[in-house]
Amino acid sequence: MPQTIILKADDIRYDPEHILPVRWQTFITYITEQNINAGLGLIGNSLEGAPSRYCKRLNQLHNNKHFEIWHHGYDHVLKGTNDKGDIYHEFFNTPFAHQLDHLQKTQALAKEKANIILRTFGATGNGIDDTTTEALAQVPELKVWLYGKNESPLYNLKRTINLEYPVHNPDFASFQENYDSDQPCLVLQMHPNSWDDQRFGQFDQIIQLLKKHNAAFVLPYDSYLQQSA
Ligand SMILES: [Zn+2]
Repeated sequence: MPQTIILKADDIRYDPEHILPVRWQTFITYITEQNINAGLGLIGNSLEGAPSRYCKRLNQLHNNKHFEIWHHGYDHVLKGTNDKGDIYHEFFNTPFAHQLDHLQKTQALAKEKANIILRTFGATGNGIDDTTTEALAQVPELKVWLYGKNESPLYNLKRTINLEYPVHNPDFASFQENYDSDQPCLVLQMHPNSWDDQRFGQFDQIIQLLKKHNAAFVLPYDSYLQQSA
């Protein structure tokens, strides 16, 4: 069995000048030319007030065999401070009604504006709690949870190794040091919009290493469908 590689690319947003940010376009072109596949994490509120060109582009990407658009929250709030002085994220330390509302809003925006039924969820900053598990249970269209909780009925694609050291910085040497070709599935998080040419070069080296090991690049929802077949 080839090793399964899931590319979890976070933070697709609207760019008023280029529709999709230029670095995202570079990433999308690269994935296509390499004939591999990547999941693209959409921030839901980017669909509010965005022109139809953006919505169409997302729809095209989702219907392209190389990509899956996935649910990356609604407002992407990280490290807020609540009334008690405690830290919260969009899906951590927030009430059930808030979490469910944010799940449903992005689900509805994707459907209404881009004609996409989102199947995969990954939380803002991967900040999650037991409330997230309960809220996700109310959104049956979502089947896959990137970096989720084991006790959830959703298919959990776990984090075992990093590609960015630290976050936003792909590092080939660190990846190679931690890489184990015997692990059946690796879910690799990345932030292409933070990559300059040097960082992109590191990412390319990582992809070439994985290709040398004949890894299979699979989309999150497809990996769920494969295991449930
Ligand atoms: Zn994010």
